[in-house]
Amino acid sequence: MKNGREPKVVVIGLDCLEPALLFNRFRNMLANLQRLRERGVSGRLRSCDPPITVPAWSVMMSSKDPGTLGIYGFRNRSDYSYDKMAFATGASVREPRVWDYLSRAGKSVVVLGVPGTYPPRPVNGVMVGCFLTPGLDKLYTYPAEVKEEVARLVHPYMVDVPDFRTEDKDRLRDDIFRMTEKRFRLARHFLRTKPWDFFMMVEMGTDRVHHGFWKYLDPAHPKYVPGNPYERVIPDYYRYVDDRVGELLEEVPEDATVLVVSDHGAKGMYGGLCINEWLIEQGYLVLKEYPTKPTRFADLPVDWARTRAWSEGGYYARVFLNVQGREPQGVIRAADYESFRDRLAQEIEAIPDDQGNPLGNQALKPQDLYRRVNGVPPDLIVYFGGLTGARSARWACGRSTPSRMTPGPMTPTMPRKGSTSLPGRASLPACAGTGASCWMWPRPC
Ligand SMILES: [Zn+2]
Repeated sequence: MKNGREPKVVVIGLDCLEPALLFNRFRNMLANLQRLRERGVSGRLRSCDPPITVPAWSVMMSSKDPGTLGIYGFRNRSDYSYDKMAFATGASVREPRVWDYLSRAGKSVVVLGVPGTYPPRPVNGVMVGCFLTPGLDKLYTYPAEVKEEVARLVHPYMVDVPDFRTEDKDRLRDDIFRMTEKRFRLARHFLRTKPWDFFMMVEMGTDRVHHGFWKYLDPAHPKYVPGNPYERVIPDYYRYVDDRVGELLEEVPEDATVLVVSDHGAKGMYGGLCINEWLIEQGYLVLKEYPTKPTRFADLPVDWARTRAWSEGGYYARVFLNVQGREPQGVIRAADYESFRDRLAQEIEAIPDDQGNPLGNQALKPQDLYRRVNGVPPDLIVYFGGLTGARSARWACGRSTPSRMTPGPMTPTMPRKGSTSLPGRASLPACAGTGASCWMWPRPC
């Protein structure tokens, strides 16, 4: 406390900020972030398991692990049936987060775009919903009238960029810069006009720029072409964000504590592995009929009475077991559950790459990772190839062996080491690992 005033706290969240870029490759061009580091402290933090946006931000702000939150990914099983998967929105977060404690203590808060805040909830201050806000026609602010204020200032406000997996890179680049400009303009407006003891914002552009442009920057990526026209997009964007951070800090009192944090980092994704395809080959997953084209898992004719395991994925895989007395057509006897799970974990960890070399896969049990395991957890959480590798899917069709030669159309990212934080005008990086993973399969491409 200085001058009898309690210091204010500003948290600047930059989703997917990559420590290797922030602290090494780009450090000399990021004057504002570098200044924060020099005046404070910085370092790497480990993200949660799995190291992805949902649940990582809610883990950070609640200090509860994903198991306690019962949020294991973007989509979670609602119950033990086979077909009820639900997106984890802010409504799924039942533990109090920092702004809830502060609101209760009478402190004023501003919460802008923090993943896990749509739908918004009452706070002692202002909340603007996150990138999962389904549309500007929805009520995405608290209080409701702030929505009009946002519209007057930055219409149309952008919670995210549309279709960040597009191949229209010019449009994507322009949208990312536009979104970031609007978010920071709104942030400065709130800092100037709202009472606040705690201010937090999260910018998603740092994540989207990695998804869209990593392969243009990373010489190790199979699709990298030296001198390509998008090679400067990521460095230019980092510089742009650094400038916006500098402007933001002009609105912040000198004695405020400033933290720059991230939920995970980024790394190239060099191959893919279709875990469900592998489960089929091993006889763990049985279809009544094999599809002739890439098919969503939910649309596959699974022979549940003969299936022991299936998976959902993305950057990491969640493997579910079909257990008697738990799933509707459970096959694995409850007494055999642990031994089956151990065996399957060992087999998954032993899956090699397409050259027969070890991939270093990890198959983790939620019960070993978390203090509590609420909701409906996966039976195994799987990272392939240290999260560089395997992804899954429709694109890598029919390959249960990871191939370094078939990166998906989507390039990138998600490492386990993220970047984080600059307390007291200092900094730390955060998080995470990455992943690979999988869902489906079609055989013939
Ligand atoms: Zn993220």
